[in-house]
Amino acid sequence: MEEEGVIKFDLRFTAGPAIPMDTLAELNNWRNILWQHALIGQDTRRYDGHGFGNISQRIGAADAPVGNREFAISGTQTGHLDQLSNHHYARVTAYHADTNQVTADGPVMPSSESMTHGVIYDLDNELRAVLHVHSPDIWKTAAVRGIPMTRASVEYGTPEMSHEVARLFSQTAVREQGIFSMGGHKDGIVAFATSVEEAGNTLLTALARS
Ligand SMILES: [Zn+2]
Repeated sequence: MEEEGVIKFDLRFTAGPAIPMDTLAELNNWRNILWQHALIGQDTRRYDGHGFGNISQRIGAADAPVGNREFAISGTQTGHLDQLSNHHYARVTAYHADTNQVTADGPVMPSSESMTHGVIYDLDNELRAVLHVHSPDIWKTAAVRGIPMTRASVEYGTPEMSHEVARLFSQTAVREQGIFSMGGHKDGIVAFATSVEEAGNTLLTALARS
């Protein structure tokens, strides 16, 4: 399968200070919960030992324009860590699917799936949190549970994935469901909501039903 964790966009990264822990408290709390459920992690028996899962929360102004909806996101290659501090999160300040560019700063480089997170924030300004996890149980039962799915031919972290997510928003009830499955990214699940808690609960509910 494709390699998790490889950054496929043109990253304009500047090393900089960490986001204050107060800003990240809820997101990091949910990261602990998801890690404890093995929805985020790193396991030698899964995905050739690559880390998996990444989470974000908007931190910028509510009226920020498309392409600049600033968000905090877990850093690349952090899946193996049982606890994260604010030094494990980056700040994405701009992203453009058309040119495949992401601009970020912080103490760590942003997740390889940053573009997908940005695209979701652009699709609905009300959304404030995006959680990408890996769950064999939810993924395998997505079709029978009516969870919208991106096409199997589309890989994570590509401009095509951005278009696929946009297609789901226009052609399915994904906005109401708050969750979709990545058909071409083994076990890949994305939940999103107006708050981290709501997105996290969507995942735990889907896990319990699967
Ligand atoms: Zn993934």
